[in-house]
Amino acid sequence: MHTAKTELNEVGVIEGPSDFLADVDAMLERAARHVPMQDGLIEKIKVCNETYATRFGVRLRGRMYTFHGWRSVHSNHPSPAKGGIRYAPDVHQEEVEALAALMTYKCALMGLPFGGSKGGLKIDPNEWSETELERITRRFAQELTRQNFLSPAQNVPAPDVGTSEKIMVWIADEYRRLKPNDINAEACVTGKPLAAGGIEGRSEATGRGVQYALREFFSNPGDVARTSLPPRLEGRSVIVQGFGNVGYHAAKFLAADGCRIVAVIERDGAIANPQGLNVEELHRHFTMHKTFTEFPGGAFHPDGDKFLTGACDILIPAAREGVFNSANAPLVQARLLVEAANGPVTFEADRILRQRGVVIIPDLFANAGGVTVSYFEWVKNITHMPFGLMERRQRQHENSLLTSTLESMLKTKFPDAIASLGGAREIDLVRSGLEEKMRSTYAQMSHLWNNAEGIDDLRSAAYVIALTRIKGIYEAIGI
Ligand code: NAD
Repeated sequence: MHTAKTELNEVGVIEGPSDFLADVDAMLERAARHVPMQDGLIEKIKVCNETYATRFGVRLRGRMYTFHGWRSVHSNHPSPAKGGIRYAPDVHQEEVEALAALMTYKCALMGLPFGGSKGGLKIDPNEWSETELERITRRFAQELTRQNFLSPAQNVPAPDVGTSEKIMVWIADEYRRLKPNDINAEACVTGKPLAAGGIEGRSEATGRGVQYALREFFSNPGDVARTSLPPRLEGRSVIVQGFGNVGYHAAKFLAADGCRIVAVIERDGAIANPQGLNVEELHRHFTMHKTFTEFPGGAFHPDGDKFLTGACDILIPAAREGVFNSANAPLVQARLLVEAANGPVTFEADRILRQRGVVIIPDLFANAGGVTVSYFEWVKNITHMPFGLMERRQRQHENSLLTSTLESMLKTKFPDAIASLGGAREIDLVRSGLEEKMRSTYAQMSHLWNNAEGIDDLRSAAYVIALTRIKGIYEAIGI
């Protein structure tokens, strides 16, 4: 059930924090018109299968504190269900259910063998010490394990807003203690540190995926022409909202591709520099001071939100949902909006932006780098074998033999670097796998956008692909 909508905005459209789930449903229904399916199936696909709500106590600071958490499984065809865990003081059940639904559609779009899930713990992680956070997390992990909402075969969390590699490793460790006979225990969670069963490239993966998404968009001249932007990614001006895991990595990789990061918006204000910010220096400053104030490489503006409608080519929300609504959508100046966050554009804002010709690269695709590399990590964990281990030296021997044969035939000495070329390292394979997934998925979305009647935007294209795959699973298993 959706809770009551709360506020009337200045253009008279009712919007409130509880609209997120309704918006995700509405986006699905809009696309469902293009996917013929048997009666009742869309309702089954849309609803969340189950949500586990827990209240648990932890004795801290000489007294008992009660915490409130959720884990939703939107779908578990196929299994396991996959999706992050969010730590935020304002997280609530409907938000978790909306995010779980997005995970179902994202995994289907990307062709990953996962259902959709999401978790939330109502807590401000900054208010607790590391030791306290560990005790709270371990208690939460116990609750999730007891109820089968944490397991390599059934439900696999990952980092999201307010959670980190460290939190993932506490969850994995707690699960292993409770299930010592589960040989795949390490795979109960992804986004772990490398030393604790993680995979190279996971922490950067979502930002890297945003970079690949944009590279792919800009390699399709017809798609770029719809934005009236110049045809190259290099030189484009970019505003990013949120400088956490996703926003920082996206800004870093886009700056490396020659974009100018002209402003970054955080909770307490924005930092701007029309010449382009130095992302690494900004990150060092932000990590140390937790604010952009006093950063010497740009001008600080306490009213950060005004940059959501600031002048730029590409706008990248990478913080929370519902940032663009019917009030600010008419003012957006960017021509291209990339949804690095989940659900940053409301259903109504999406309509306004499309009407105004702003192209949106939707969350289902734009931030799918995280779950894609999580998939690689999960596969690495359940195979108990690092990627590339068996082939690396064999490739090197083959290459060395080929080089020496060619050298003697051509009477030429090749550089040593060529003769000693080996198989790919884990990070190379991860990036190559991610790039392949992003490129092939974008090609399918772009094809529908440009050719299918009535599919006028990339979001609808993404949902149509996802829905077609989900429908196929239900039909195959006979439901
Ligand atoms: P994070 O906690 O690392 O970073 C979020 C950042 O946004 C923080 O620095 C926070 O201060 C800032 N922020 C919060 N509210 C803000 C506001 N109103 N204005 C400006 N800044 C604000 O979280 P993250 O992992 O980077 O996730 C960001 C978004 O990306 C979320 O929507 C998340 O669901 C989505 N996402 C994350 C991943 C992942 O791998 N971490 C994968 C897919 C999608």
